[in-house]
Amino acid sequence: MLQAASKVVTMSKPIKKIGLFLLLIIVLPIIFLTYREFSSLNEDEQILEKIYKNQLDVIIFSVNQYSEDVVRSWSFRFQSIIENSPSTKTNFNKNLNSFFEENTVIQSMFISDSSLTINKTFIKSANKIALEKNNWEIKQVLDNNKKLISRLYKYKSSGFTKLEPLNSMNIKGTQVLVFVLDDRRLCGLVFDPQDFVNDILSAKIQSVAREELAIAVFDSVKNVNVYSTERGELDFQQSKHLWLLPDYSLGIALRGASIDTLVRDRTYTNMVLIAGLAVLMMVVTLYGYRNIRKEVELAQIKSDFVSNVSHELRTPLALISMFAETLAMGRAKTEEKQSEYYNIIQQETERLSKIVNKILSFSKIESGKWKYHFVKADLNSVIEKIYCNYKFHLQNNGFEFRFEPINGPLESSFDPEAVSEAVINLIDNAVKYCSEKKKIVIKTGKQQENLFVDVEDSGVGISREDQQKIFDKFYRVTTGNVHNTKGTGLGLALVKHIVDAHKGKIELTSQPGKGSIFRLIFPIEKTN
Ligand code: ADP
Repeated sequence: MLQAASKVVTMSKPIKKIGLFLLLIIVLPIIFLTYREFSSLNEDEQILEKIYKNQLDVIIFSVNQYSEDVVRSWSFRFQSIIENSPSTKTNFNKNLNSFFEENTVIQSMFISDSSLTINKTFIKSANKIALEKNNWEIKQVLDNNKKLISRLYKYKSSGFTKLEPLNSMNIKGTQVLVFVLDDRRLCGLVFDPQDFVNDILSAKIQSVAREELAIAVFDSVKNVNVYSTERGELDFQQSKHLWLLPDYSLGIALRGASIDTLVRDRTYTNMVLIAGLAVLMMVVTLYGYRNIRKEVELAQIKSDFVSNVSHELRTPLALISMFAETLAMGRAKTEEKQSEYYNIIQQETERLSKIVNKILSFSKIESGKWKYHFVKADLNSVIEKIYCNYKFHLQNNGFEFRFEPINGPLESSFDPEAVSEAVINLIDNAVKYCSEKKKIVIKTGKQQENLFVDVEDSGVGISREDQQKIFDKFYRVTTGNVHNTKGTGLGLALVKHIVDAHKGKIELTSQPGKGSIFRLIFPIEKTN
């Protein structure tokens, strides 16, 4: 028991170390990195979304800036017409006319005094300009925005000319913009905001929208589209008021997928990729670990094999040498004693040659030098022969040993010598791993298109876990009392080789403490 326990410990120690090493240098870093990547991915996507939104802001800003530039250029022009062509009225009218012609969006312009009581309004009508004094509608608009206008005068006194849109609800369908000319005069421009968007802003909007963006200007009060680069409704990611057209807003959306969808898709793809990569690395690590474990186990098993075989050889050799010496020295006085010693020497020599033969057979099979001789034979007679050879010996050793063949011959094409070798190995094991209940039964039979031989014992049995491994070369069960029985771990590997060569299979039914049934199945059709 002690020996078995110590073996288990020495076997698992290097494997545990390797497992721990792999865990520390590969598995834990993978888990850590995956966790980190997952959490940073979310942050990255948030930053990305912010950057996208900022970019959209910049685009909206550039459209606003452009409209301000246009309107400011109008104001400069109007200012220069007022200030530079006062000499003759005709000159003034000529300049104003050409200004109106160049900027068809503008409907009228006006100059008002600082008290907002007197105004001169120049209205474009057909090919001429109509001058209206104290236009009632303009006066009303100015009166409604008194506070704002006084602020504009303050800005002007500090040297800053500001253009400001006025609330011009009372003049339907127009937008009024004012700026202070000097401390006495206020100038204004009246235009159609819809025309402004369609004739002036549309070109700019198209140039910034390009292929990637869809941009629309909509009336946020009436909730209708004024202009759009796309047909149909748009789901805006960002929208802002136009500075100079307070009733209008500019909305912007990504063509095709929205930012949210893009970001979500990207996050999802990245997460799937990272998770996939982590799983792949884990699988590779696990695969590597399993291979290393197998190699370590095999190395350990091989070293066990060498020590087992040495032990197996040493015992009979010691006995042979001891009894041969006794006989040579003439110490065995009676004939009875002498014959007993000769018997022991013969038995031990047989045991030795059995072990050596098993190793040689195995090495022949492994190296492919074993030649199978398939002949038509009767399985029942082959097993009967083995039974007869073993019957006397086993019954002498207290075994209940029976052969229960199926009625009639079991003819097929197989290698009788190899099949005998396999069955003898199974009987040897049944003897070696017996319990107090010493019973071995051999059965033969037919199962569909197959022949089979059962070797049934009521010995120590084999656990489910070990049942998977006992057919591996060198493998021996390392726990319990089983290990006290010496062996090479080659017997069942040899049996498997032989059965495989016959394209057959082995079925094992076993339960610890209740015995085992090894069934060797040989197909009739294939071997015929
Ligand atoms: P060996 O008997 O030389 O150890 P084998 O390859 O014949 O090698 O058997 C491998 C292992 O399978 C044995 O170590 C033993 O634990 C188990 N085994 C084989 N046959 C039996 C059996 N009939 N009953 C219980 N255990 C068995």
